[in-house]
Amino acid sequence: MDKCSFCGRTKKETNLLIAGLEGHICDHCIEQANSIMKEELGSKKNTSFDTINLLKPVEIKNFLDQYVIGQDMAKKIISVAVYNHYKRLMQKPDADEIEIEKSNIILVGETGTGKTLLARTVAKMLHVPFTIVDATVLTEAGYVGEDIESLLTRLLQNADYDVKAAEKGIVFIDEIDKIARKGDNPSITRDVSGEGVQQGLLKLLEGSIVNVPPQGGRKHPEQKMIPVDTKNILFICGGAFEGIDKKIAQRLNTQIVGFGATKIRDKVDKNNLLQYIAPQDLRSFGLIPEIIGRLPVLSHLNPLDRDALRAILTEPKNALVKQYIKLFKMDNIDLTFEEGVLEYIVDKAIEFKLGARGLRSICEAIMLDAMFEMPSKDTSELEITIDYADRKLERINLKVLRAS
Ligand code: ADP
Repeated sequence: MDKCSFCGRTKKETNLLIAGLEGHICDHCIEQANSIMKEELGSKKNTSFDTINLLKPVEIKNFLDQYVIGQDMAKKIISVAVYNHYKRLMQKPDADEIEIEKSNIILVGETGTGKTLLARTVAKMLHVPFTIVDATVLTEAGYVGEDIESLLTRLLQNADYDVKAAEKGIVFIDEIDKIARKGDNPSITRDVSGEGVQQGLLKLLEGSIVNVPPQGGRKHPEQKMIPVDTKNILFICGGAFEGIDKKIAQRLNTQIVGFGATKIRDKVDKNNLLQYIAPQDLRSFGLIPEIIGRLPVLSHLNPLDRDALRAILTEPKNALVKQYIKLFKMDNIDLTFEEGVLEYIVDKAIEFKLGARGLRSICEAIMLDAMFEMPSKDTSELEITIDYADRKLERINLKVLRAS
């Protein structure tokens, strides 16, 4: 009878038995051998915290500065949170019994202001598995949509199913505002994608062992679940929380009463109320208190002004303009931009309310023909003029871009 040459299990006792030249190996022993190999050779991913290159908060912020324009407050808050999170992971159990709590983060700001970029950049810096998931696809178990556990499927996939690496990864949950409770009355009809999902998320945020479907979804009912411990996974949530400024204004108005009230009220910058955001505003918006409690680090992101958009085009390490110059350089073409073209692109992004998200679509529209034709031409220079950009943009309907 065929059996594993390592552990002696018979074929019946295994899920898989692979035949070799003179023996067999079962799935159990393959997994064990794999983990021994990783331990001995060191995993290619950073799974040990001693080996995570733990930068100091100031250094973390410096790193973020290379990729993200502006958003100083958010960067500072994230730098400290990430530093503390990984310090927490490195702490050895000691006698004083002080336990550093997890510092999951929630970022509030208009779309396209850099929330995802910040989370992505942190993951890049730490070399840990990272995934972005959209809260809108989640529903309570038993309803159409994705189970909460599937949040971790993508993380596992991005970690090449290395569970240990995934357990130290970062999950960015986008559009967290979309699972806010609709209406103030918690007893209104079933709120499938609201409070129920928040309850489900709680389990993940606070840290527990979750059975994750390795293929995701509910399409493979026969798949074997993989247990993943979320205790050390850093969750960063992001959302636009449209309309939350009204809740902030309400709170500020009721809070600032009495002696000296007008003085303080005058100091409030009404154009950017988001900067005063506090946990209770998230609650008024419809997040349940337990969720807010599990997202102790709250930061706002500022809307991007003209200067910031202009800087985004050229300053970040992988700025769009740098990317185009590099692409053309590979065909031995020197790409330059006439003075004013970049301002023109920024103007268009503002005009069509596309924000930073639109910069790329606008640049693509301008550059497409050149990228198509130039490699076959015998030219070594290309200058993008305002006139050229204007002609290229004229042909496309910018309103279409807005939807992207
Ligand atoms: P959000 O998650 O806030 O909706 P993203 O982080 O996905 O926005 O940003 C959308 C695009 O705009 C990204 O391609 C990013 O490169 C660019 N971007 C947004 N904000 C910034 C910023 N502050 N600095 C540099 N690039 C930015």
